[in-house]
Amino acid sequence: MCVPSAKGLSTSPSARMTFGGEDDILAGCQESPTILYLISIEVEPVTAGEISMIFGAHESISGGVHKAIERGKKATCDTIQIFNKSSNQWRAAKLKPEDVDMFFRLQEELGVTVATSHTSYLINLASPDEVLREKSYLSLKEEMERCNLLRIPNLVMHPGSHVGSGEEAGLDRIADEINRLFDDLANNKCTLLLEATAGQSSNLGHKFEQLAYLVEKTENKQRIGICLDTCHIFAAGYPLSSPKDYRQTMQQFDDIVGLDRLRIMHINDSMQPLGSRKDRHEHIGKGHIGIEGFRSIVNDKRLKNVPLILETHKGEDLAEDIENLKVLRGLVK
Ligand SMILES: [Zn+2]
Ligand SMILES: [Zn+2]
Repeated sequence: MCVPSAKGLSTSPSARMTFGGEDDILAGCQESPTILYLISIEVEPVTAGEISMIFGAHESISGGVHKAIERGKKATCDTIQIFNKSSNQWRAAKLKPEDVDMFFRLQEELGVTVATSHTSYLINLASPDEVLREKSYLSLKEEMERCNLLRIPNLVMHPGSHVGSGEEAGLDRIADEINRLFDDLANNKCTLLLEATAGQSSNLGHKFEQLAYLVEKTENKQRIGICLDTCHIFAAGYPLSSPKDYRQTMQQFDDIVGLDRLRIMHINDSMQPLGSRKDRHEHIGKGHIGIEGFRSIVNDKRLKNVPLILETHKGEDLAEDIENLKVLRGLVK
């Protein structure tokens, strides 16, 4: 419901995002009354042939959350991912009402939606250290509240690291905290997306079975989804490079987790080879996955409502994003 989806065929860049009515507004948001009137943002994605795909990139919020939308427009994105606070600090600066207001206004004016936020890298719900786990929980809760305030439909989180305490114990701790989160934020509209990881050190989420286990243990299944990162799953050992590899990997995902859970894809090539369990993003077609892997993805009709978001290195002028998006759009048949 909350995922930007393609409506009809069009040659103009756009996407659609619909949110609920006035009663959905968080109490903290009332200081900015204009937000109440921006209920629906309607845009439609670039289309080629019969398929429309939604393309985007992670953009920086440096200078204010609304700045990411301007960057997204400059980079030719249909949609973007942001951090809703600094990604390497526990602290979050309060969102200013005028920034929130501008955040909504620019999405409408520029035709660039915000498909998802990505959590801070400090959060570890699997930590056996109770103090760190509680700190992680509170931080995640705050990010979820900020997503609701900003009407961002998804929040992507790396499941966590068991830090030597064992895979199952780690997964159980994550599931417990997710259930607690959904109980504590009963009226929150944001969907939590568990991101597949490369499996570095004790990171969980590098096997589809681990993601399925977490979904299974989540009581409120409407509020949980999955984000697949092409670099991560490839590094974790799932091949993507040929049409056959891609088909088999997606079939495995569908059998184990279910394609209906897939809400966002991070679309990155990999500097490291298949099964390396190292997370190093590379520009599209320049890494070990290679261009054919991405051709399969952008022509997979099942993904037409799943935003494909780049997380590759870029300079201030965003030239790399522009180039990568051009390459991806050029692969659509
Ligand atoms: Zn991530
Ligand atoms: Zn990564």
